[in-house]
Amino acid sequence: MDLALPGEEHPARRAFHQWLVENPKPTARQLAVAGYVAPHWPRPWGLGADPVEQLVIDDEMRRAGVRRPSNQIGIGWAGPTLIHAGSEEQKQRYLLPLLAAEEIWCQLFSEPGAGSDLAGLSTRAERDGDEWVVTGQKVWTSFAHVASLGILLARTDPDAPKHRGISYFICPMDAPGVTVRPIVDMTGDHAFNEVFLDGVRLPATNLVGPVNGGWALAKVTLGNERVSLSGEGALWGQGPTAADLVDLVRQAGGIADRLLRQRLMKVWVEGEILRLIRLRTVSAAVAGRAPGPEASVRKALADDHGQNVMEVAKDLAGLHGLVDTGLFEALTAGHRGEGSPVGGDHPSLGAGHVWPPTIWSQGYFFARALTIGGGTAEVQRNIIGERVLGLPSS
Ligand SMILES: Cc1cc2nc3c(=O)[nH]c(=O)nc-3n(C[C@H](O)[C@H](O)[C@H](O)COP(=O)(O)OP(=O)(O)OC[C@H]3O[C@@H](n4cnc5c(N)ncnc54)[C@H](O)[C@@H]3O)c2cc1C
Repeated sequence: MDLALPGEEHPARRAFHQWLVENPKPTARQLAVAGYVAPHWPRPWGLGADPVEQLVIDDEMRRAGVRRPSNQIGIGWAGPTLIHAGSEEQKQRYLLPLLAAEEIWCQLFSEPGAGSDLAGLSTRAERDGDEWVVTGQKVWTSFAHVASLGILLARTDPDAPKHRGISYFICPMDAPGVTVRPIVDMTGDHAFNEVFLDGVRLPATNLVGPVNGGWALAKVTLGNERVSLSGEGALWGQGPTAADLVDLVRQAGGIADRLLRQRLMKVWVEGEILRLIRLRTVSAAVAGRAPGPEASVRKALADDHGQNVMEVAKDLAGLHGLVDTGLFEALTAGHRGEGSPVGGDHPSLGAGHVWPPTIWSQGYFFARALTIGGGTAEVQRNIIGERVLGLPSS
């Protein structure tokens, strides 16, 4: 596995240095216009960067302390789908504000009766002249309360087989008939919502791709969702790692309890295995090879691992772990810092929401979501069994 990045003379490094001289304190819009928010997207929205160029640009941005704007669902899921199937007008209208995070996006897919079996959704869209009239209910919609726009799946042909009667729309969240109600999760955060759609009128131009062709586009969106939930931190790629927990224990002077020591080492080993799987994926990309089954396997392992890390952290804190504050302080008594020692954006609230000192106790509660969102643990295992190992479906 050779992951050495090209040196200072690489053209992508030189181009970024030059651009930074001309834009010393880049705004989100300047980054978006220059193609540095999603360099792998085709021009003019990105730079058409190959994996090596992308890693080089990421490296340069990190060194320069330049942060990309945060619009997780917009940039991670909606944008790639619009590039794949949006009309030229839709790309011109939506992509730049999306990249600059001037318009935040949400994903109106799950419903009370349709989660894993998403194709069973019952929200209806009926054509009325130049408009579609949408009625139904969505749930678990992250960021709906701050979003300007949503990607929406609705049934446009109730008589067709379920996968063939769904269309893909763009829904303005301030349209008359859209009601957003908060759901406060067990961490105490308000990150997702219920969304009611009551006769919402969408212009025909808000349809993405062909009528009844939405399922193929939903698969593009969900494929991008799984990739972007697989970074290094224990909470969907964000937040602390098992190695961070080991560092805290080292600072605290070690652990006397032998059982806890075993469990800590077990999660550290899991973390190393996941880090190596991730390096293999990156190495394959750098070498120009298509990703193998690593992405599905990694998500299945990483979600359980995130829960294991947080459970060990909670138990390490002993009685302090019974209350929802002070866990970090308990782990690092005498080594207390301001805020969290670990980087990364909050997994459900996004960039700008720095982890509080209560990161471990909050993460413990958030970790329950890991094996549900982005495809449940059971559904991931079905995918591995059927698509990776070729076993017959149930
Ligand atoms: C933090 C978080 C954020 C989310 N954000 C969004 C969002 O922004 N937009 C959005 O649309 N949705 C969002 N979701 C919803 C998420 O996509 C769904 O929760 C997920 O698809 C599971 O659906 P469900 O909750 O309806 O569970 P169900 O599908 O009802 O599953 C219930 C149980 O049955 C099991 N099960 C179901 N089918 C099978 C099967 N075929 N084989 C074996 N077991 C099965 C599941 O694994 C699970 O244990 C979010 C969820 C979370 C946790």
